[in-house]
Amino acid sequence: MTPKIARFLTQYQPATPCLVLDVDRVEENFRTLRDALPLARIYYAVKANPAHQVLERLVGLSSHFDAASIEEVDACLDAGALPEAISFGNTIKKVSAIRRAHDVGVSMFAFDSREELEKLARHAPGARVYCRILVENEGADWPLSRKFGTTIESARELMLQAGDLGLDPYGLSFHVGSQQTTTRAYEIAIGKVAMLFTDLTEAGINLRMMNLGGGFPTRYRDDVPEIDQFGNAIMTAMTEHFGNNLPDMVIEPGRFIVGDAGVVQAEVVLASRRDKNDPVRWVYLDIGRFGGLAETEGESIKYRITTPHDGTAMGPVAIAGPTCDGADIMYEKSNYRLPLALTSGDRVELLSTGAYVSTYCSTKFNGFAPLAEYYL
Ligand SMILES: *Cc1c(COP(=O)(O)O)cnc(C)c1O
Repeated sequence: MTPKIARFLTQYQPATPCLVLDVDRVEENFRTLRDALPLARIYYAVKANPAHQVLERLVGLSSHFDAASIEEVDACLDAGALPEAISFGNTIKKVSAIRRAHDVGVSMFAFDSREELEKLARHAPGARVYCRILVENEGADWPLSRKFGTTIESARELMLQAGDLGLDPYGLSFHVGSQQTTTRAYEIAIGKVAMLFTDLTEAGINLRMMNLGGGFPTRYRDDVPEIDQFGNAIMTAMTEHFGNNLPDMVIEPGRFIVGDAGVVQAEVVLASRRDKNDPVRWVYLDIGRFGGLAETEGESIKYRITTPHDGTAMGPVAIAGPTCDGADIMYEKSNYRLPLALTSGDRVELLSTGAYVSTYCSTKFNGFAPLAEYYL
């Protein structure tokens, strides 16, 4: 938690649950990543946190943006981004969204299928397009595999056709999965996609761009490699495959930019035991899977939790949300332990909740209001 957030929570005692995000930390993370990969252009993945204050700060830092919907494109434009700085990176786009994005000047689009390529040719003629390749997501705590990307063979075919359809075959992309904890995943993916890149170049296609996606991790309960290790591994792999003739490099970080900039404060609604002899207590918070903590699905993302009783005796807990839905359990198998003194009314903090929380919450399930947000 940054000092600014700590001060805010003490002074204002906002109603819980709430997300408090330090926009200065967003800037710091952006600069850290830019220093780690100075040759890459950063397209912030808007879905990680689309708050106006976040986008505006990133516009001020000359960030580019990866938008997944026309609403995200509009949010970037509202924050002052130029249309040339926006990539429409979703491979699944409505025709109306393609048309509107093209009309406002967005000129870079992702695809991974023949039908999407044809939609782009018809509704965004002349646009720069890049094909997303399916790569392994091993090592990612929140994989994106299977839903997106195509094979090397069909990507080759589609990129060869793109020019005939009146589009500009600009590049290739992949995503190694979110919260990727190994640098190896990038090395393997770069190796795979670079071969196709070279192959297409030799076939006469004027490819200029490699989009390495996002995936750069935030530290939650467990340590993750430093961002410099990712930067070094990526540059070594790129140089190995392209020598001095590097293509434009694009990265699309989401989580890394905003994850550790935010803190959720929540209230303990109940701390109880199923049976008085049960060693495990159930701790129910006023935020859960439907209040924004969707990434606790499968106990994938394990947030660190602080309490007013830290440093006192602890015991095993299961942690759940406040709704009457049986799926609203965050952690039951991940060996969480919290102070035995923890009791209803206590405020706790879930750290590094700046990414994939604020917009992952339901509007009013069970009557609970959506998560309140403060940007400092
Ligand atoms: C979600 C997403 C990202 C961001 O991923 P992170 O793991 O948050 O860095 C980047 N690119 C695309 C295409 C995405 O869908």
